[in-house]
Amino acid sequence: MPIQICSTCGTSYPDTAEPPSRCLICDDERQYVPRAGQAWTTPSKLAGGHVNAWRQLETDLFEIHTQPQFGIGQRALLLRSPKGNILWDCIALLDDATKALVRALGGLKAIAISHPHYYTCMQDWARAFDCPVHLHAADADWVMRPDSMIHHWEPMVPMAAVRF
Ligand SMILES: [Zn+2]
Repeated sequence: MPIQICSTCGTSYPDTAEPPSRCLICDDERQYVPRAGQAWTTPSKLAGGHVNAWRQLETDLFEIHTQPQFGIGQRALLLRSPKGNILWDCIALLDDATKALVRALGGLKAIAISHPHYYTCMQDWARAFDCPVHLHAADADWVMRPDSMIHHWEPMVPMAAVRF
């Protein structure tokens, strides 16, 4: 069975015969549930109607986003580095073309994600490129598909001790 992807926010959920009844990300007051109710898709359905577009922002910095827009219009940034490429944030669509292009650029050494709106299908990106995903430990409850590729990091100084 395929994984289920929330069409509103792009978050992926475990493979089940029926989509979940709710999306916990969309249920949060910072997001929304569409008036027509929650809608779901799968990776193959998503790939059937969407493609990923690339934009070169700097010499070694690329933006990847999905066309037509999907979820909340997330984008991922791919930073090329002599020590390995980093994907900052993530998007739901990982099609064959994207896999081939990322591999041609040297693959990924790590994925780091700013906040749960970008968790999307990070598990599939991590497995496709055999790299870890680094998430802040405070956001662990927002991971809907736990995966051994996900590493939760803690700040070295407790946030309560940081003066802004
Ligand atoms: Zn959602």
